[in-house]
Amino acid sequence: MTLRHSLRGEGAETEDVTEMEKAAKGGTFKIVWDPKRCYGCRTCELACSFHRQGVYGPESSSIRVTKSNQTGRIKWHRDFSCDSCGTEEMPLCVKYCFYDALKAGVQP
Ligand code: SF4
Ligand code: SF4
Repeated sequence: MTLRHSLRGEGAETEDVTEMEKAAKGGTFKIVWDPKRCYGCRTCELACSFHRQGVYGPESSSIRVTKSNQTGRIKWHRDFSCDSCGTEEMPLCVKYCFYDALKAGVQP
């Protein structure tokens, strides 16, 4: 079993995967980050880097998660290199955020 299969083999499915699957193929996802739920674990960064480059490395990710040592404030940013996970059944950053801090929706 490859790391890719291992990564994909876990994680909760959402109720409307079919709808998401269609949207993912069309690249029409929007992704919403909920700062109240985010723990700054950075799993989304790694999931994204795996989608984009086949490696686990924040430098290859479209996502940057930072946490202030002074205030503990977490910042989450997705840059222009995000392709909305168009080749995936659903965005991997959403799929592997185990705190439900990321939600995917279909663009209106
Ligand atoms: S995986 Fe979820 S909880 Fe972890 S840093 Fe990303 S958004 Fe925050
Ligand atoms: S949707 Fe895919 S490419 Fe975009 S930030 Fe999330 S994991 Fe990365």
